[in-house]
Order: sequence, then C-alpha cells, then structure tokens
Amino acid sequence: MTDYATFYRRSIEDPKGFWAEQAELIDWHRPFDEVLDDSRPPFTRWFVGGQTNLCHNAVDRHAARRPDDNALIWVSTEVGQERTYSYAQLQREVERMAAGLVELGVGQGDRVLIYMPMIPEAAFAMLACVRIGAIHSVVFGGFASVSLASRIDDAQPKLIVSADAGSRAGKVVPYKPLLDEAIRLAKNKPRHVLMVDRGLAPSQPVEGRDIDYATLRARHLDSRVPCTWVDATHPSYTLYTSGTTGTPKGVQRDTGGYAVALAASMKHIYLGNAGETYFSTSDIGWVVGHSYIVYGPLLAGMATIMYEGLPIRPDAAIWWSLVEKYKVTAMFSAPTAVRVLKKQDPAALKKHDLSSLRALFLAGEPLDEPTAQWIADALGVPIVDNYWQTESGWPILSIANGVQRQPSKFGSPGIPTYGYKVKLVDDASGEELHGAHQKGVLVVEGPLPPGFMQTVWRDDDRFVNTYWKSVPGQSVYSSFDWGIRDEDGYYYILGRTDDVINVAGHRLGTREIEESVSSHANVAEVAVVGVADQLKGQVAVAFVVPKDARGLEEPQARLKLEGDIMKTVDQQLGAVARPARVHFVTLLPKTRSGKLLRRALQAVAEGRDPGDLTTIEDPTALQAIRELLGR
Ligand code: ATP
Ligand code: MG
Repeated sequence: MTDYATFYRRSIEDPKGFWAEQAELIDWHRPFDEVLDDSRPPFTRWFVGGQTNLCHNAVDRHAARRPDDNALIWVSTEVGQERTYSYAQLQREVERMAAGLVELGVGQGDRVLIYMPMIPEAAFAMLACVRIGAIHSVVFGGFASVSLASRIDDAQPKLIVSADAGSRAGKVVPYKPLLDEAIRLAKNKPRHVLMVDRGLAPSQPVEGRDIDYATLRARHLDSRVPCTWVDATHPSYTLYTSGTTGTPKGVQRDTGGYAVALAASMKHIYLGNAGETYFSTSDIGWVVGHSYIVYGPLLAGMATIMYEGLPIRPDAAIWWSLVEKYKVTAMFSAPTAVRVLKKQDPAALKKHDLSSLRALFLAGEPLDEPTAQWIADALGVPIVDNYWQTESGWPILSIANGVQRQPSKFGSPGIPTYGYKVKLVDDASGEELHGAHQKGVLVVEGPLPPGFMQTVWRDDDRFVNTYWKSVPGQSVYSSFDWGIRDEDGYYYILGRTDDVINVAGHRLGTREIEESVSSHANVAEVAVVGVADQLKGQVAVAFVVPKDARGLEEPQARLKLEGDIMKTVDQQLGAVARPARVHFVTLLPKTRSGKLLRRALQAVAEGRDPGDLTTIEDPTALQAIRELLGR
C-alpha cells in the first residue's frame, strides 16, 4: 500500500496518469484517446474517445464470471417480502425491461423518468436505461404532482416508469393519482407510462398511454438486448439536488467518468470487495441511492441491499438483523437516520451479531459528535463520515481507508479525496485561507474529477453562473458550504453559506451552535436559525426535539431545560452565541432526503412566507411550529 499523501499528490499533479490507472477498474469497449480534456473550462470531459456502458460494467461482466453470486437483495418491511437476484437473474430482468423500453420506442439519448417506490423494478429500469443509452431521471417517489410536473417538463421524458403505489409505515401511498395529475399539469406529455402493478392500490389505466409492465415483460421473457456502447461523455442520468436552499438544480452526469469514479471509490473509500454485501439505507431518489445502492456496489461486484421501510419498523433492530442475516460488510446511512435510532433503546442494536460489519459510513448532513459517539458505542464499529453533494456524485472529503489506514476524527468528514483540489477561501475577498482554523467557503479548483456533474441539464449558463462565479476574482467551483481545516489537514463543515447569522456584528455558523446545543444530554435533535431582531440585527433561536419529553408540559420544566441548554452554549461558545429562545418541538421540518429545512423554519420564525415547500417531508412539522409561535 502506498501512503495516502503520495496517492493524493499524484492524483493532483498527474491527474491523467492517475485516472488512466483507475480506469482499469472498468471494461472499455473502445479505449479512450485522451484521459482528460479541459480545454473549455469549467467544463471537463473525461476519457474522451472511449466507449463503454454502465450496465455492462455493473451487471454483465459479473454475470459472465460469477453468475450465481447475489447481486440485488430486496427487503420490504412494508409489504413483508424479500427477494434475491443473482447477477445472472439481474441481467435477465434488466434485459426484459430494456426490451420493453425498446418496444415502446425508447432509444439512445431519450429521457426516461422513473417515479417509483423502493422496489427491484426501479433498479431494473435504471439499469435498462443506461443499457440502451437512454438517460434516466429518477424523481423521488412520493413527491407530489407539482414537483413531479416541473421535473417532467425539465426532463421531457419519452416514457415514465412508475408503480401503483408505495408504502410508508404500513400505509399504502398511491402514486398513480399523483402521476396522472402531474402529467395533466406538465406541458411535455410522455408518450407512454409503464406501470408496475404491485397490487397495492387499484388504478385506472389511461387508454393508449399506460402499459402494464407484467404484460410487457411476459412478451420479453427470452428477449436479449445487448449493451449499447456509448461515448464516455454520454449522459447517463440527470438528478435534482435536494432543494434545501431553494429551487433544485438538474445535475447531469456522464458515463465513463462516473463508472471509473464509483469503482475507484468502492475500492479506496467504501471497503467494497466483490462477493461481499453492501447496505445503503438511502433511497434511489437521491444521489446516494444512485451511487451507492445501485451503481457503486454493483460495479464492485457486490450484493447490494435495497430496503423499503423505516429504520424502526417493526422495531429498531431491523437494519441490524439484516446486517446479521446477509453478513453486511459495509453500511451507508445518514445522520438523520441515526438520530431517529438515538431516540430508541441502544440495546436493540446489540441484539444481533454485527461481526461482519467493518464500517458504517454516514453522509448527507453534519454529523454532530454526540450522535457519532452514540452510534459508535452502540455498534462497536468505525463510524466514517464523508462529505459530498448531488453535484459531485461521490465524496469530496473522506477517509480513504482502502489506500492507507487513517484515523477519523469525530466531527470531521476527513480530508480531501484524491482527485479533488479542495481549498477554503474568504467569501468577501476570495483569497485562499492557508492557516489552520480559519473559516472559509469550501471550493474545488478545476478540472473537476471524473464522476462530478458535467453541467446543469440543458442549461450550461446556469452551471457556470451558479457554481463558478460566486467567489470574487476566481473561477472555482463553490460548494456553498462553510468549512475550517485543522492543523492535521482535517476539514470540518460548519453549515451552508446561507446559514450564517449575524448577532450584533458577530458572524456565527448555525452548525456550531447546533453542535453545542446537541451536546446537552436531553437533546435528540436541534435546528438553530437566525431571526431578525431590532436590537442585535439577528438572534439565534433553537428548536429542540428532546430525547425525553416527560414533564415538559410543565412551563417550569421547560424553562429549566431552556436555561440549561443556554448555559451549555455559554460555556462552550460564549454568550454571544446563546440562543435567545429554545423551543421544544416533537418534529423538525426536513426535506424528504432528511435535511433540515432551515430556510422554512427561519421564515416561519420571522412571520414570513416559507416559500417553496415542495421538498418538505412532513408539512405538519412546520404547522405545529407555526402554532407554537402563534404565527
Ligand atoms: P440544494 O442544493 O438544492 O439546496 P442540498 O444541498 O440539500 O439541496 P444535496 O446535494 O442532497 O442537496 O446535499 C448536499 C449538501 O449536504 C452539502 O452541500 C452539505 O451542505 C450537506 N452535507 C453532505 N454531507 C455532509 C457531511 N458529511 N457533513 C456536513 N454536511 C454535509
Ligand atoms: Mg446543495
């Protein structure tokens, strides 16, 4: 093993040599002429002239060598079913789906919108698309009609693949009525809708438009559909960001660079070996689902678990029982899920044999120390935070234990991942910050590594103007996140650049205050927002979900806990950061991908209209807060 510093340096000083080597992790139909073309910055083209196919690399090449190894393990605690597909079986199902798509007129470059619950057919559809060079656009199942309609209009799909219903906490969530309404609202109507009927909700097919998948599949049981070799730069998919800070951005990803980046990340970061089992608890509607439920583990020749259900149903042991049953070696989840478990008895996690598990990877939001410590103690395995975005497709900051064993530090997602020239810059002057513990905007200097977004779908100008023009005097990619770096080179994410509050001239990151509040023993979850204040400009206001809410109906008890929490912040950060108020709530408003919707919370706290709420998970959370504040 080389040491990581050498490995990293090579990726930066000799990106062509470095990535040419990584490119050997996948099969190429035609070798590339050029590793990297960055003649038109900030656009980057990787493996130019090469031809490959994502589905060939994720499925066919493993099916040829190890046909009987598990590829996809589907577990639904919603409908009480489990199904396992070997690589050979997965290949056949993907070909059946691909044959159906071809019959319905889908070809290379056509878009297919996938609006589905977490069922195997969703993965088949994704893989079938990339198999024939069609571009998929997965929209999180359960988004309501208006959000779905705007995505239909943006992607302009020839076909939509959907299902009758999803299920959540045992309740059937019909998809078809939402889809029908979305298509009615959309300006661009798809020619066909391919419906997977799970038998959960009765639905009325639209004559001439809707096609039943079981019927179509039956016609193609023996159909074979070879992979279409596409250019490395051919788009594989588009996907929207979570919409935490505003209108979602349509991220466009390539084929060759993405395949290489994911294959390399499985090896160097995620400890993924062929024949082992990977369990990512995300949803295919998010980037983690794309990269680390479907493509990453399959590219690595692993079995991947696709889970439909909640982490605490039937009980808090469900995930850990799957780890034991399928000998999961690596798991990927989000801090938000861990915080849900944290409200449960940690003993549930200890009931099962977790000896196969080598690490739990977490990403998606800041991982506060108490939460990290709690899950580390409960599981007894390394907890590995990593930082990235829909835009990047794979980690920007990480601990690459596959290259060289490296310690993690609580609260830090690690150091720059190979391939990424990460810097911190002063937001006002744009100057690079070289010293330790200086707070700046985290930016990435081009050329961006393989796997990173190519552009905003059909909107190059938006790509350039949104991401590359925000730092004065420099053309660098802005993450729109604040960070600091310690003397060992570890980064800490302090929150988003629009999550800074200004209390009497002091600029404070909401993340820092949240971290402090959550160190109080009775805090399960917290959101801090800045609220306009006549005297101080802004003050911090905290919304806390207590671990133990018993007795908190009493105003006295609430005041006592509020005072204790304020004292905690005083001691750790100083009185300037002390929240002016601490409100106790049962639920925080989040996006459907589990991220805090601070902008909505702030708007309600200031008595303003919360704006675009299409990505909110549960509107009652915000409603309850509105009532609490008398808004
Ligand atoms: P939008 O860009 O539409 O506002 P979003 O940024 O929430 O939505 P995602 O791409 O899903 O959409 O989320 C990426 C963001 O999540 C990062 O920019 C960062 O703010 C946060 N994030 C991800 N991983 C981590 C992590 N390990 N630590 C801290 N923050 C993280
Ligand atoms: Mg973002």
